[in-house]
Amino acid sequence: MRIFTLLILLFATACGGNQVEKKSDETQSTTEVGTDQIPSSEEKKEDLPETTAPAPSPPKPKATTDEKNSAPTPPAQNAPLNTNVTAPSAVNGFVNITRLDPSIRLDIKYATTDNFTKSKIYDCPACLLRPEAAQAIVKAQKALKKNGLGLKMFDCYRPRPYQQRLWDKVPNPDYVTPPAKGSMHSRGAAVDLTIVDASGKELDMGTPYDFFGREAHTDNNNLPQKVLANRRILRVAMEAVGFKGIRTEWWHFSYQNKEWPLSDYVWPCDN
Ligand SMILES: [Zn+2]
Repeated sequence: MRIFTLLILLFATACGGNQVEKKSDETQSTTEVGTDQIPSSEEKKEDLPETTAPAPSPPKPKATTDEKNSAPTPPAQNAPLNTNVTAPSAVNGFVNITRLDPSIRLDIKYATTDNFTKSKIYDCPACLLRPEAAQAIVKAQKALKKNGLGLKMFDCYRPRPYQQRLWDKVPNPDYVTPPAKGSMHSRGAAVDLTIVDASGKELDMGTPYDFFGREAHTDNNNLPQKVLANRRILRVAMEAVGFKGIRTEWWHFSYQNKEWPLSDYVWPCDN
């Protein structure tokens, strides 16, 4: 056994052992003998049982004749190419997340009085996002589903007129981004969300949504292990698809690498 291991080590060193180690996280290589001890350097793994990488394994290109999808697909993005996700058709630059994936739950708090302003800010609930960000959310949802989990959205795109309403209620820059400055939500690039289990029950994240205080901070480790683990699941799922969190709100994530304009578009309330 030892000799075998030694041989492998020698072989790995000869091939540039360091690279082998680094890459093992990204490529689920089939040929790495003896790398079972390697995928340790990432804290991510422990929270997402069964998956070895934060992102779902890339779907194989579907070699069928999709006569319906005759529209040219946009130039390569690193968005998921899930065959059952049609290219989102944007309305006024936004797509409706529940049309893309109806399994994503909505609890748009600002369309109710159950928010920190105690007022209904939105005329009706909806989760709109820029297409690229929306597809990233769908990708995260698919990855979580494999572990019996899912996303629940508290807030997505926030039209500037609604941001103004929020500001009118709470004109305090500690809690609300001034409309003139513009929130990432008003760019359609930010989400407030949590994770639910298969029955729809929210995982314990330590505080409710929009709790303003140290307990909600993501650098606060003075919380039960379970809470920290749940937050890590959320963070890992979101970072894997290109979102990044902020220090003061465990529920907030902004999509990276994109600069979309602030928008005044308000979705209609049909019924
Ligand atoms: Zn937010």
